[in-house]
Amino acid sequence: MTRHYNFCAGPAALPEPVLVRARDELLDYQGRGLSVMEMSHRSAEYVAIAEQAERDLRDLLAIPDDYRVLFTQGGASLQFAAAPYNLLGRGGSANFVHTGIWGKKAMAEARHLFGAAPVAASSEANGHTAVPRQADIALTDDAAYLHYTANETIGGLEFDYTPEAVRPDGTRVPLVCDMSSSILSGPLDVSRFGVIYAGAQKNIGPAGLTVVIVRDDLLDRARADMPTLLGYKTLAEGGSMVNTPATYSWYLAGLVFHWLKHDIGGLAAMEAINRRKAEKLYAAIDASDFYANPIAMANRSRMNVPFVLADDRLDKAFLAEAEEAGLLNLKGHRSVGGMRASLYNAVPEAAVDALVDFMGDFEKRRG
Ligand code: PMP
Repeated sequence: MTRHYNFCAGPAALPEPVLVRARDELLDYQGRGLSVMEMSHRSAEYVAIAEQAERDLRDLLAIPDDYRVLFTQGGASLQFAAAPYNLLGRGGSANFVHTGIWGKKAMAEARHLFGAAPVAASSEANGHTAVPRQADIALTDDAAYLHYTANETIGGLEFDYTPEAVRPDGTRVPLVCDMSSSILSGPLDVSRFGVIYAGAQKNIGPAGLTVVIVRDDLLDRARADMPTLLGYKTLAEGGSMVNTPATYSWYLAGLVFHWLKHDIGGLAAMEAINRRKAEKLYAAIDASDFYANPIAMANRSRMNVPFVLADDRLDKAFLAEAEEAGLLNLKGHRSVGGMRASLYNAVPEAAVDALVDFMGDFEKRRG
């Protein structure tokens, strides 16, 4: 068996110890004589798995007691609808910081459902190479909340600060954050947010699961016409088991949380590793005229590193030879082309070393 280095943007690499443990427990979970996949979500065994996962996530992110953690489905994309449904029940509009493709999709969904979705700030003018600064963020008088994307997975653009969401009259409104591609990459002050959501398939676990972290006082702001299963309050009160949850993805997420806590040593340790990985790759890109990344230094994503070759006629050869060298999924998103190396938590530093070596070698031969 050979496991290659996987730089996929999502579904992404999983920690090998997690996969090994899942394999070991696959047929017979801890002597119970059945697989986790075959358990009732209401069984004592499964409820214990689910609760442990939540406890570990709470520990990792130091989630305050007045926040609920929801394990739901539909991907981050369904949260583009769930957030406005849950937060616009008292009127007002959803305001958006637009920094790339995912933020734009979130905005488009709010607009599709409820009409107005004002842009409080945008990095469109600089080609999404630098995020708007706090002073550039202007909420509308009727803003019910402010939504932003902490890390734009396709553009490789990451916020280097947590925005404040304040209306012109000085009223603070909830901050809603799509953290799909950066959650768990380092410590986080959850108390700054009203809602955090993330699709699982990058830093949390396999696809099929969406994690939502929501402050208690926001559970009573939903629109009456909201589909039941989108409701944060409904999910919170039902322990995320209003209907059948994504049981196996939830279990695997729990194994990832356990790995982060016990093998890595928590999110500060994880952040240090992630910083080293990203620095190595950006340094290699910057040291060469053959590779380039356009993002402002302060906003370069630690998780997703897009780069282009000076001569895009070499793209095909680069990808083919990388794959031969055991470096998988380096093709940029279909909407932008070029290359992208995703360096999520489960991508080891050795993978980045191998990629940097390969890039140097490719440049020598083809540059
Ligand atoms: N937001 C961001 C930042 C993403 O990276 C993605 C997926 N790549 C999504 C939303 C959409 O996630 P999903 O496919 O889980 O709906």
